[in-house]
Formats: sequence, structure tokens, C-alpha cells
Amino acid sequence: MTPYTELNRQFINGKWIDGSTTAEMQNLNPFTGKVIHELPSASTADVDTAFVAAKQACGSWAVTNPLVRRDLLLNAARIISERQEEFIDWLAKEAGSTYIKGVIEVQQAHDILIEAASFPTRMHGRTMASTIDGKESYVYRKPLGVVSLISPWNFPLYLSMRTIAPALAVGNTMVVKPSAESLVTGGTIIAKLLEEAGFPTGVFNVVVGKSDLIGDYFTGHPISKMVSFTGSTSVGRGIGRIAGENAKKSALELGGNNAFIVLDDADVDQAVAGAIFGRFLHQGQVCMATNRILIHQSIYEEFKTKFVAHARQLPYGDPTDKQTIIGPLIDNKAILRIQSMIDESIKQGAVVETGNLVQGNVLQPTVLSGMTIDMPIFKDEIFGPAVGIMSFATDEEAIALANATDYGLSGALHTRDVYRGMKLARTVETGMIHINDQSDNDEVHAPFGGEKLSGTGRFGGDFILEEMTTVQWVSVAHEPRQYPF
Ligand code: NAD
Repeated sequence: MTPYTELNRQFINGKWIDGSTTAEMQNLNPFTGKVIHELPSASTADVDTAFVAAKQACGSWAVTNPLVRRDLLLNAARIISERQEEFIDWLAKEAGSTYIKGVIEVQQAHDILIEAASFPTRMHGRTMASTIDGKESYVYRKPLGVVSLISPWNFPLYLSMRTIAPALAVGNTMVVKPSAESLVTGGTIIAKLLEEAGFPTGVFNVVVGKSDLIGDYFTGHPISKMVSFTGSTSVGRGIGRIAGENAKKSALELGGNNAFIVLDDADVDQAVAGAIFGRFLHQGQVCMATNRILIHQSIYEEFKTKFVAHARQLPYGDPTDKQTIIGPLIDNKAILRIQSMIDESIKQGAVVETGNLVQGNVLQPTVLSGMTIDMPIFKDEIFGPAVGIMSFATDEEAIALANATDYGLSGALHTRDVYRGMKLARTVETGMIHINDQSDNDEVHAPFGGEKLSGTGRFGGDFILEEMTTVQWVSVAHEPRQYPF
């Protein structure tokens, strides 16, 4: 199999073309610091060309036989499996992904393609009674038209694919703007995949550009009917505002500050194992990552000792070494941001139990005890391999602490009494919470999404099928209607 080439170009209307500005973008390897690509940014004219192409392709794609759309998605799923190692290499090179994370991400991308392949034959409408005598109502489910996507760099392949596969499956066409830090794995390699799978010209387009040059223009583009955004809450608020001003639908999947609660009757070893995975997968750069660990005071010391010992053993360094668990952060800015959160928390009394050493863009797994609610490690999304732990006295206190945040994405709760766990879990203000597990869960058929400042909308299964479609009410008068005047 020949590896994909031209991944440093845009894919617009079935052609591989360079961005048409002189503004240069650099794609960097976050571990080595080496330049992978230097390329010119897209212009607003490139954005226009991509949206026009998507609009032209819309009509015929929407009425393409559902089984044809299904088979194209299944082709893409087959190819991504065949090219798994190539995709994993790119995730390591461009996004600093460890091998384990790469395997998980490619599998997820594959699985959402398979899930979405069933959507073309699941676009159900309804017939409804009418409150007017002699009339009948039909509800037709239809694609939206052109959907735009802005995706982040942390799980770029999957977080792009979770919009792309459902959107195309239900008959939309697309324009995608990947993150500059993951322009290949969030954009151009997906275009190669869909091109190889046989998707028709114009159905899928990728523009690669600097957000300060094309961001607002892309978000507000009049041809697009919906913007799907995954990224930070600060940027997401601006995206939502622009979408609203243009009467465009938006799905916003934003940041998280997820609590991991360990009740007094928990299986401590299982809780420790879960918290390690929940915090340190992809060096903590996951929106659902475990950000705050809250432990009942009766088991605090036992949990702390075991958790710190486990964190200390996690291998860190080169993401291309298959043993590595903690690879690099995306860039030096991330290192500086997290170090400042840790320093400020230490000033406020947090104690470093392990870690807090930096080599290049790699931060050793770091655990801080004695966390309090005013510390940055409690209040803010860390998005890195550092975490604070603190104790609580009662169930009520644990829930109050978990809810003491503007975010509401995911969470976890450990107890041997599942009924007690379910009752408490339902009082946590979060879109997702997992009992006797950890916060990093995404199943392609389950409702994924947040409350509060973690966003709006749900991905997964029927939920994303609805999000990516609209309905039309068509009523029929079978008898001449009597009007009052
Ligand atoms: P970010 O908000 O900085 O960037 C996200 C995307 O928006 C990137 O593609 C970026 O190029 C683009 N962008 C930035 N400014 C823009 C503008 N003005 N107009 C248009 N596009 C613009 O986020 P990030 O650093 O890439 O990702 C990390 C954040 O994403 C974290 O807060 C994390 O929690 C969140 N996230 C959320 C989810 C979720 O499903 N809820 C998943 C992954 C990441």
C-alpha cells in the first residue's frame, strides 16, 4: 500500500491545491520540535470555493441511494483499518500521541464510520394525526445541506470523524477546517481516505488556514447550515455567537473540569487504576479527562499512597516508543500554562507528591495533594499530566465539590453500593458520568456531550443523527377545508 502524499495541501472540489495567501503555516512535531510541513494558509476566497463546491454537490448527494452512501462509509472503515499503522504514525508525529492512544483513536474513527453506515437507512419520518378534519400530516427527515466543522488537535482524527461520518451519512456535504496543529490528522489525511473510498467530488472539502485569517469568515459562511465545533470554551463562545448571528445551527463541544469521586465504600485499587487512566491517557489532553480527584477522608491516605506510586511508574518521553504512556504536550505554551497553574497552587498550599519536572515538551506525571477549591488545579481545566487530590467528609460535600465548577462534561464515581452511586451520580451537573469507571468514555452509539460551559448538543448514535438532520412538516387536506372567512 502506498502511503498518502500531498497531505500539506487543501482538498477542494476534488483537487489538491495550495492555500492562496503568502501567510506561512508551520506544522511541528511536538516531541522533536522539527518542522513537518511549511505551507501557505488558505484565504477567504479558498473558503468560498470550498463552500460553493459543497453546495453544488449537495443536491445529488442528498438523493444518492442510501445503500451507496452506506457502502462508501464501509469502504472508508475498511481502508482506515488497513492503513491503521500509517494513521498511528501520523498521530504520533503530528499530535504527540502514544501508541496506545493512537490505537484507541483509529479504532474510534473506524467505529463511528461503521455506526454512521447504518444512518442512511435510519432516517425515519412520521405520519401524524391532524387536528383539522380531513387532513393528515407527514414529517420528513432531511439533511441540513452543507455542514462546517472546526476540530481540535488533541484527538484530531476521531473528533473530526465523529462529525464527518454522520454528516455525510445522512446526506449533508461538508467543509472542514482542522486545527493548524493537526492539519493532517484532523483534515487532509481524512480527505485522502474519503477520496480513496470513492466519495464523489465536492461532497467533502478541507481548507487549511490560520484562524486569525479565515476563522470568523469560515464560521459565519452563509452557505453553511450548521457549524460543528469542538475546542475550548473561550473560542466556542465566539463560534456560537457568530453562528447565532447568522441563524445557523451550532453544536459546541467545549472544555471540561471533570470530578472523580471515591466514596468511603469504594474498591480503592479499582478506583486508583481508573483514576490513572482517566487522568493520564494522552498525557491528560482530553476534554473528558479526570481533572479533580475527591476522596472520602477515611480512605484518603490509602488512595494517595497507591495513586502516587502508580503515577510515578508511568513511562514518559518519546511517543514513538511503544512503552511510553506520557508523551509530549502539544507545544511549549501548554507546558508554561500548566507550570504556572502548578506554581500558583503550590503557593496556596498544594504539595507535590511526584513529578513536576519538564524535559522539552514532556511534563512528568504530576500529583499534588492538599488541593483546595481556590487553587487553579481545582478551578481550571489542566489539560495535561497533572492532577490534584483532596478529601471530603460526606456524600453531600462530595457532590457540592463536584458541582463547584462552570463546566459539566464528564465524571466518575466509585462505590460498592451501585444504587447509592446512581442516586448521587444523577445529582452531578454533567452530561456524562460513569460509576465504578473513569471519566474518559466515548462509545459511538451513546450520547456524548456536556452541560453548563461544556457545550450544547450530543454526538453518538441516534443523537447525532437528529443533530445532523432537520424535519419538514408536510400536511395534506384530503377534503375541501372550511375557512372562517
Ligand atoms: P481551541 O479552542 O484553541 O481550538 C479549537 C479549534 O478552533 C482549532 O481548530 C482552532 O484552529 C480553531 N479556532 C480557534 N480560533 C478560531 C476562530 N476565531 N474561528 C474559527 N476557528 C478557530 O481548542 P484546542 O486547544 O484545539 O483544544 C483544546 C480544548 O478543546 C480543551 O478545552 C478541550 O477540553 C476542548 N475539547 C473538547 C472536547 C469535547 O468533546 N467537549 C473534545 C476535545 C477537546
